[in-house]
Amino acid sequence: MSIAASSLLHLTPEGLFCPEANAHVDPVRPVARAIITHAHADHARAGHGAVLATQETLDIMALRYGEGFCGQRQTLAYGQRLDLGGVTLTLKPAGHVLGSAQVVLEAGGAQAVISGDYKRQADPTCAPFELVPCDVFVTEATFGLPVFRHPDAGAEMAKLLASQALFPERTHLVGAYALGKAQRVIAELRRAGYDRTIYLHGALEKITAYYQSRGIALGPVEPVGGLGKELAGEIVLCPPGELAGRWARRFGDPVTAVASGWMRVRARARQRGAELPLVISDHVDWPDLTRTVLETGAAETWVTHGAEEALVHWCETVGRKARPLHMIGYGEDETETDSAPADTDT
Ligand SMILES: [Zn+2]
Repeated sequence: MSIAASSLLHLTPEGLFCPEANAHVDPVRPVARAIITHAHADHARAGHGAVLATQETLDIMALRYGEGFCGQRQTLAYGQRLDLGGVTLTLKPAGHVLGSAQVVLEAGGAQAVISGDYKRQADPTCAPFELVPCDVFVTEATFGLPVFRHPDAGAEMAKLLASQALFPERTHLVGAYALGKAQRVIAELRRAGYDRTIYLHGALEKITAYYQSRGIALGPVEPVGGLGKELAGEIVLCPPGELAGRWARRFGDPVTAVASGWMRVRARARQRGAELPLVISDHVDWPDLTRTVLETGAAETWVTHGAEEALVHWCETVGRKARPLHMIGYGEDETETDSAPADTDT
């Protein structure tokens, strides 16, 4: 591997830093210049001097944090090249949520890719992951264990629709995070032929409307507002944290579902109160994770968060160098309330 590739990135307490570009990628604390991969709360924080990201990521950050979320914004479209202190920066689709990007840094013929969160499964609500050959590949490992194999999303939607047919008098309440998961569930339901109105908890309205404004077809959606028992037999989406709370009681005896990669784990499904676990994830599963590491051709793989040791061990068994970064602040921040947009990752 070229020495230049690994020297493109340094690990600092704020996160990964490119000295030539003088920019951090997804810093966990306020910095002078940040490049943001996507707008999930654990990657996109408010308070940076300058933020460079895709238009969608910047727009969603403004929706959640307010227009003053950073000093200066700079938009970079997928594939557009930008010179930063002698390093060429490009953003490539990560297939994670609308606007999500891999950060590609290139200097002296060496290339490093910070994938952010990503997935390889088809998703009608965002641009598909684009494989970028590189020398250093920085990857998440949220589902970095062989047990994690995400089924086809269509098959999970079929379970939801079968349950609705079986219990036509009960509301089906689906817990889905506000950014990405909720819109994907809606789009997958439409793909399965479901054309009735889908009802949304207030915390999901703003971002769903934003997706629609960017041309993502979601069909008829309405706020739940003050409705409750009137929605018997309907599908209602809400943040997962609302399933067990007071808000959900308005529906009487709903069927509770959760859409998350973690639903593969029975204990998690129980803990979430999911009668109907739907294994739908924004992240690569184990087969796609290991396939991607191989396909990038990277001589070195750096693992940022998730099941780091398992992936590092796997890389070594196939003769690839790998290192766990033990970065704090990403991943399983699943706390969520109506007002705080901490909907990260599932
Ligand atoms: Zn994410």
